[in-house]
Amino acid sequence: MAEKWVYSFGGGTGEGDAKMKNLLGGKGANLAEMAVLQIPVPAGFTITTEVCTYYYKNDKTYPQSLQADVLAALGKVEQIMGMKFGDPANPLLVSVRSGARSSMPGMMETVLNVGLCTSTIPGLVKKTGNPRFVYDAYRRLIMMYSDVVMEKAAGIEPAEGKGIRVQLDRMLHELKDKRGAKSDADLGEDDLKDLVARFKVRVREVLGKEFPDDPLEQLWGGIGAVFSSWNGKRAVDYRRIERIPDEWGTAVNVQAMVFGNMGDSSATGVAFTRNPATGDNRFYGEWLPNAQGEDVVAGIRTPNPLNDATKNAQNEHLPSLEAAMADTYKQLDGIRLKLENHFKDMQDIEFTIQEGRLWMLQCRNGKRNGPAAVRMALDMLKEGLIDDKTAVRRVAPNQLDELLHPILDPKGEQKAHAIAKGLPAGPGGATGHIVFTAADAVAWAKQGKAVILVREETNPEDVDGMWSSKGILTARGGMTSHAALVARGWGKCCIVGCGALHVDAHAKTLKVDGTTLKEGDFISLNGTKGNVYEGQIAMVDPTSDPELSNQIETFLSLADKFRTIGVRTNADTPQDAAKARAFGAQGIGLFRTEHMFYGGGENSTKALLQLRRMIVARNESERRAALAELFPLVKEDIKATLAAMDGLPVTIRLLDPPLHEFVPQGDAERKRLVEVAGITLADLDKRAEALHEVNPMMGHRGVRLGVTFPEISEMQIRAILESAAELTKAGKKALPEIMVPVVGTVLELDHQRAIVDRIHAEVCKTCGVDKVEFLYGTMIEIPRACLTADKIAQTAEFFSFGTNDLTQMGFGFSRDDIGGFVPDYVEKKILPADPFQILDQEGIGQLIQMAIEKGRKTNPKLKIGICGEHGGEPSSVMFCHRVGMNYVSCSPFRVPIARLAAAQAALGD
Ligand code: PEP
Ligand code: MG
Repeated sequence: MAEKWVYSFGGGTGEGDAKMKNLLGGKGANLAEMAVLQIPVPAGFTITTEVCTYYYKNDKTYPQSLQADVLAALGKVEQIMGMKFGDPANPLLVSVRSGARSSMPGMMETVLNVGLCTSTIPGLVKKTGNPRFVYDAYRRLIMMYSDVVMEKAAGIEPAEGKGIRVQLDRMLHELKDKRGAKSDADLGEDDLKDLVARFKVRVREVLGKEFPDDPLEQLWGGIGAVFSSWNGKRAVDYRRIERIPDEWGTAVNVQAMVFGNMGDSSATGVAFTRNPATGDNRFYGEWLPNAQGEDVVAGIRTPNPLNDATKNAQNEHLPSLEAAMADTYKQLDGIRLKLENHFKDMQDIEFTIQEGRLWMLQCRNGKRNGPAAVRMALDMLKEGLIDDKTAVRRVAPNQLDELLHPILDPKGEQKAHAIAKGLPAGPGGATGHIVFTAADAVAWAKQGKAVILVREETNPEDVDGMWSSKGILTARGGMTSHAALVARGWGKCCIVGCGALHVDAHAKTLKVDGTTLKEGDFISLNGTKGNVYEGQIAMVDPTSDPELSNQIETFLSLADKFRTIGVRTNADTPQDAAKARAFGAQGIGLFRTEHMFYGGGENSTKALLQLRRMIVARNESERRAALAELFPLVKEDIKATLAAMDGLPVTIRLLDPPLHEFVPQGDAERKRLVEVAGITLADLDKRAEALHEVNPMMGHRGVRLGVTFPEISEMQIRAILESAAELTKAGKKALPEIMVPVVGTVLELDHQRAIVDRIHAEVCKTCGVDKVEFLYGTMIEIPRACLTADKIAQTAEFFSFGTNDLTQMGFGFSRDDIGGFVPDYVEKKILPADPFQILDQEGIGQLIQMAIEKGRKTNPKLKIGICGEHGGEPSSVMFCHRVGMNYVSCSPFRVPIARLAAAQAALGD
């Protein structure tokens, strides 16, 4: 059978359905489903994503039968709608829209009103009796088509401000200014007629081609433009960020036009079946009377509220749809319920009302931010709409990050000077330097600066800049504008529609309320309230909000029901340990002893001085003298951490970094050290020189220190075992796990084990106990350790994968120097992602799997975890679950993310 490239829908039937997203794209699949549900959708057809794949594989050509298939499907649309494409008397107009598998808001192109031309205009004027409407539709077609098809799809890259769309927009504005028109709707028939004639001339001048006057030429131009927009810069940027594979391709939806701009009984709008920013179960949306298509999303006019629940400071003076068109609103509300009950998830919908008749143009699962995702999942579970497993799946692990993300310090906010108020599109706080272009946002962020991207209005071409910014602020646009949607999807702080701002991107200035701010100045955003402040405001931890914390905890407890692996934390201080426990950590998977020397407090400073004294010691007895002074400080820290975890396991790693890292550089510190150590500055320099290594990451570090200087290991082991013994004697529970880093051979581990056994015997004697409970194990972070894991497991009671070093040594990429090349690798698709952030399952993953297999062959009870940065990254956590680890360990703030990812892994996701 010939391949099916085109699927029709409309008139109460559909050839596709919602399950066919891969083939029909999200939009096409759901349009078909809505048609079958007897929801009013204008008839249309979907050209499949396979055509897109074919198009790119075959030198931008179409399958042979596509032309005939499209014409046949167009025939069906004509029949259902009772109009004919290109017919002079009764012309059908269509829209041409993209539709990928997962939504990419605003990333690809749309062309509306296709089919309007000199031969069909008179017929449509006669039929509608509304010439103003027809010429308005025509000027929109010219603006969209010349931009999307004749310029972008043709690969023309005009200079900033010289694009055809900008030029035509300017002509429209000039005309409005001349007429004193407040909005597009104030321009009359003659104005528009004159404008389209001038538009056509300008198109010819700028693009060197006539505007196509043949409906079929327009249609194929639109279809081609959608396919080529799949590889447009902004779509490619978005896919990189969202990790959408390039191979998916987009479908094209061709659909009969319905018009929201046919007068006061017509309208267009977008809505969410629940509030996407808070999760509140109330219909939420915006609409514009007498408007078409993208007007609501583009933020050209301030949209009206859908109902009372949607009113805010910007729109409360405008009539709601509920009040203005009560019956239509009721019908729409009915559809809202039908859609939620059917899809069992919050829907993002687009609708048009043509002369009082309601049409649905789109529905899809709505993007939502973290707090809303958690609330909706819990609410829908309570409502019986979804089961508990589905609820757990409804929140993407990374969305939890937003809930735990910083907010502006309320005290700082109270004192700060509020300069404007906009719509709270993306909650949380942000503070940073003002930048005015996406390119600047990217460049500044690369230099490690926090930036707030300030734009007049949102533009899908800004995605990479938006991604690089801490927050986004726009002067125009509503809660459903592009910036709002994208920011919400990413959980970024975002304020839109801040009308008091006068943004001059050229001059790089922002004028507001009598103040002029320029590039680099600080501003702060409260994205939850919509407040904009001049200057920098400190950020604080939002988990101090009890209601939010409760919801997160309820949700995570639900997830924990399914989770089968443990989640621990990497914590180096008793404070971190306590915080992580509050987030649900079930132990410490990595206590990096050396971090106590960097804490900056009184104990840290004292400890660091003694450590330095130990490092510059000229012989063992000097070293031991310094270690003796160091011992009580190290013990105090370890004991407090064991106590804070109160019976939960604590993996304490023996000293890891190369010693020269601790050699002081500053004059004051150097002076202080020579005084305490009783040496001269020249001695110190000599010692520092001796410690210098060409390649310290692979030098004298980790277990190698303990082999050369066993007394260093001894001191730490004694501190651990004595702390545990004393806590146990005091009626507390302590479960230390002694972990040896950078092991490559079992003999290193055996060497250190002998020290452990000796010290254990001594501690038992001094503390008067028979035995101290502890485990002895190792980091697996050197490829050789993976290859010989069976032997290592003869001595180790646990393995903890140090995937930071394992990635470093497995790839041969210096983890401190990847900034110079890994971004290029990702850009050039040589690597799918930075392997230090997302575990390379294909390569490093094999080493891990091999080590687990070999280790468990020797010791089936071997406890296995991970403590590299990957332990809090969702896809890596899922991998850890699959390969049979017992736990993951990550930084305290990522504990909730790991809990959820591990639960979803257990659910088989
Ligand atoms: C690791 O290498 O993955 C690890 C956790 O240790 P560190 O980052 O301290 O080297
Ligand atoms: Mg390491």
